[in-house]
Amino acid sequence: MPLKYFIVHAHHEPASFNGAMTRRALADLTAAGHEVKVSDLYTMGFDPVSDRRNFTTVANPAFLKQQNEERHATEHNGFAPDIAAEMDKLAWCDVLVFQFPLWWFSIPAILKGWVDRVLAAGRIYGGGKWYSNGFGVGKRAMVSMTTGGPEAMYRQDCLEPPMETLLVPIEHGVFWFNGFSVLPAFIAWSAAHGTDADRHVTLDRYAAHLLAHTGTPGRPPLNLADYPPPNFARKTT
Ligand code: FAD
Repeated sequence: MPLKYFIVHAHHEPASFNGAMTRRALADLTAAGHEVKVSDLYTMGFDPVSDRRNFTTVANPAFLKQQNEERHATEHNGFAPDIAAEMDKLAWCDVLVFQFPLWWFSIPAILKGWVDRVLAAGRIYGGGKWYSNGFGVGKRAMVSMTTGGPEAMYRQDCLEPPMETLLVPIEHGVFWFNGFSVLPAFIAWSAAHGTDADRHVTLDRYAAHLLAHTGTPGRPPLNLADYPPPNFARKTT
């Protein structure tokens, strides 16, 4: 079945390996009959700073409380055009892909700014919309990342934390929280350290990874029924 992919691309150099990965994803997914939209954040000049520029409406001019302004903007069609356009792509897609280099164990600031501004209370989450009742239910999401360090460094009891720990803020805090099922991350380890031939193999592996997961369900978000209030602890029986 043809799918709609939305790649949020966060690298400042078009000739980078991240750039090559996004171009390969675009080419191979399109050739396989899928639709692809790319938000190339640096090329777009995406503004990562979250403030009143997020909105064309104002709920309280005296005190900026982002989530209150987001709920107000949701009710009054008051998101700035750059944010509204990203929200529309998010609603459109079946599969969301974050493409980025690992920076300081995390996503680059421009992508964090995209998350902070686009995933807005009211429109995307809140009012009962989260996890198994979230905006992204029925959609899937995936990390595609490059690193400086090798895979061996990112394991339990190694110098760096295990990669699954580093992925928690993205895969749990952003994808699951908003209802997306999580496809296995693709990680291009030490992308700058091998040879061009190594990197060609990595690009082939990435294309194969994407196509292998067109029909897989991914790990579903936590089921709210299993984590009841008031303390949201996992039910044992
Ligand atoms: P590039 O350097 O752009 O590309 C690598 C090579 O691929 C280049 O030689 C390029 O010419 C070549 N290439 C491009 N296109 C192709 C193609 N089609 N086929 C073959 N080769 C091609 N690393 C960590 O592990 N942990 C961290 O916490 C971390 N923090 C960082 C923080 C900052 C602020 C910075 C700047 C870097 C950090 N790094 C970290 C390193 C970073 O993750 C890597 O430098 C990055 O992931 C490498 O990917 P790239 O796309 O930037 O590679």
